[in-house]
Amino acid sequence: MKAFEYASPTTKEQAIQLLGAQWEEAEVLAGGTDLLSLMKTFGATPKRVVDIQGIQEFQGIDYIASSGLRLGALATLSELIDHPAAQSNYPSLVQAAGGVRSQQIQSFGTIGGDLCQRPRCWYFRNGLGYFPKDASGQDLVRQGENQYHAILGNSGEAAFVSASSLGPPLIALGATLRIFSKDGSRELPVAEFFRTPQQESDRETILKPGEIVGEIHVPPAGQVRNATYEVREKEALDWPLATASVALKLSEGNVAQARIVLGHVAPIPWNAVQAAKDLAGKPIDEGTAAEAGAAAVAGATPLSRNGYKVQLARVAVKRAILNAVMGGA
Ligand SMILES: Cc1cc2nc3c(=O)[nH]c(=O)nc-3n(C[C@H](O)[C@H](O)[C@H](O)COP(=O)(O)OP(=O)(O)OC[C@H]3O[C@@H](n4cnc5c(N)ncnc54)[C@H](O)[C@@H]3O)c2cc1C
Repeated sequence: MKAFEYASPTTKEQAIQLLGAQWEEAEVLAGGTDLLSLMKTFGATPKRVVDIQGIQEFQGIDYIASSGLRLGALATLSELIDHPAAQSNYPSLVQAAGGVRSQQIQSFGTIGGDLCQRPRCWYFRNGLGYFPKDASGQDLVRQGENQYHAILGNSGEAAFVSASSLGPPLIALGATLRIFSKDGSRELPVAEFFRTPQQESDRETILKPGEIVGEIHVPPAGQVRNATYEVREKEALDWPLATASVALKLSEGNVAQARIVLGHVAPIPWNAVQAAKDLAGKPIDEGTAAEAGAAAVAGATPLSRNGYKVQLARVAVKRAILNAVMGGA
């Protein structure tokens, strides 16, 4: 690990000043479960680490029925999992957080950190960047070990998958997040937070150096049924192979509005807009849920070794829809 300076501000203004204007200058430290492992392998080499745990206003989870759920970026996955209002109104979020199998990660990992965590792609983690190439310029992902890579959104050069399990349910629930910088604060839909890098100097989110995610707001669930379904290789400490988070508004037994967002299958959480539109006006049953699953992966372009993920994503959508409406794990 490269030597670094450690700062622990207690206000967001101090933190923003300490972060500076370049990624090389400083990185935000929350629970450290991702950043520190990346620093140990020289995947991140900031001159300064700005620990934001002392900023009280980014802590905690609050729920008011009329305004919804406020998640401080520093609230931990455990706090989310244990929150009674989250459990009853936003099961898709609690299921996604609960999917992070390790109690240590749940206790230390924060909600903001989950959204901002860097790709788990093994080429990226080994210092080869987003678009790894061999000496002759051949794409290492496409000709190599791509079994955990993207099956959607991979028409450009990037083929890693977004690692965040909380991104998909937050997008399906229509959540927004608030970002703080030296210019003040701005709120934007979580759906606009993630982006596919076009060059090595980009990041996987729209965050710029010197910006901090402070809180996330989830609108009142009301009658919105929601669920997340994950498919994993085994019940172990690893990221899912494919997930689906759905939010469904029903009217007289039929779908009035739907959102379907896939996780771990594309460089960003994958909003299956057409599949959700096609569900409108239909009742939910095995048949319509299966159709939605098929529609969600209709545009998949699997790589040489990850064709199996298409079926997993299809099934995840079907089961998330059925669970949202009929209950079940
Ligand atoms: C074994 C293992 C299994 C895991 N399984 C899963 C899984 O199944 N699904 C899943 O989603 N995740 C999984 N994770 C990842 C885990 O959820 C994240 O590591 C954790 O949520 C990150 O939170 P943190 O507070 O520790 O972030 P940190 O490590 O402190 O930070 C992570 C990154 O986010 C940035 N950052 C953090 N907070 C902010 C903020 N508020 N504003 C701006 N930037 C910020 C940091 O600069 C850094 O780049 C797993 C991790 C491990 C080690």
